[in-house]
Amino acid sequence: MKVTDHIKKAEGKTLFSFEIIPPVKGRNIKELYDNIDPLMEFKPPFIDVTTSREEYVYINKEGLLDKKITRMRPGTVGICSSIQHKYQVDTVPHLLCGGFTKEETEYVLVDCHYLGIDNVMALRGDARKEEKYFQPTKGGHGYAKGLVEQIRNLSEGKYLHEIIESDNHADFCIGVAGYPEKHLEAPSLQSDLKRLKEKVDAGANYVVTQMFFDNKKYFEFVDAARNIGIDIPIIPGIKPIAVKRHLQLLPQVFRIDLPQDLIDAVDKCNDNKAVRQVGIEWAIQQSKELKEAGVPVLHYYSMGKSDNIKAIAKEVF
Ligand code: FAD
Repeated sequence: MKVTDHIKKAEGKTLFSFEIIPPVKGRNIKELYDNIDPLMEFKPPFIDVTTSREEYVYINKEGLLDKKITRMRPGTVGICSSIQHKYQVDTVPHLLCGGFTKEETEYVLVDCHYLGIDNVMALRGDARKEEKYFQPTKGGHGYAKGLVEQIRNLSEGKYLHEIIESDNHADFCIGVAGYPEKHLEAPSLQSDLKRLKEKVDAGANYVVTQMFFDNKKYFEFVDAARNIGIDIPIIPGIKPIAVKRHLQLLPQVFRIDLPQDLIDAVDKCNDNKAVRQVGIEWAIQQSKELKEAGVPVLHYYSMGKSDNIKAIAKEVF
């Protein structure tokens, strides 16, 4: 079932959902299930599974380093399918422009359709580690908007190289990313919002936001989006701070601000166990306020560990 249909069906009740990361290649999928199991009591109608870009690895061959390209966390669509089968919940595989040709994306979409996956998240992806700026993959899309168009076209029977008349088209519900504190490359929040509107006009059905720690940023973002005619659901993404290093890392990687009260509370902690608790309490307060304001879904970034998400969900749902 589509994410947007879950939202409609909930009739104003805020839903719980979360995002997981595929295990590192070669690890057991049971680790993933062990982190999903404790969250199932909160009845997520859908679970997102991220995709990571290809990266270079250096293999030592008799003293010489051989440069190879690999994907460290493969298996997004397979994991989605196995979660749907095991837990009977919908899943949302993340699709990236970076690292994929349009043909490869088409294969993935056809697989999703056959596997009964109704939702996809269309993302550009970040620059590769060794690149300063995002470089489009040869034969791939340069921006998420192009990916949204490809997915929407396929839903209408327009494949890359042919139009196929059929009564069995995929009809994907498409999520896209939104940035309450603007995307790091955007020259201004307003211009980033215009880009978001282009993704919506191309066929996106809902937005999931980048993490934020001050709800005011989310509320202002939603108002600004509504003002320029974006009228699809805007789902807030919540990440609980988990380690002291997040104070530097999150602003550096995502160009987001952290509220001074949160920084002070984390600074006072003697160890990461205490930081994790501060992160839980902050996210509970954020979640309660957002729920009170009637957000359609609270979507949590689990980063592979669910104990903190469970502690938050217990207080909020
Ligand atoms: P776009 O919408 O393409 O925007 C990228 C930048 O280009 C923005 O600054 C935008 O303003 C600008 N722009 C857009 N169109 C144009 C144009 N025509 N001309 C000039 N500028 C333009 N990354 C992963 O690698 N894997 C994941 O699974 C993943 N999941 C995510 C989930 C969520 C909810 C979010 C918020 C982010 C996720 N990301 C993920 C990160 C995302 O890939 C990066 O933030 C990426 O840098 C931008 O992706 P986008 O889809 O927002 O790009």
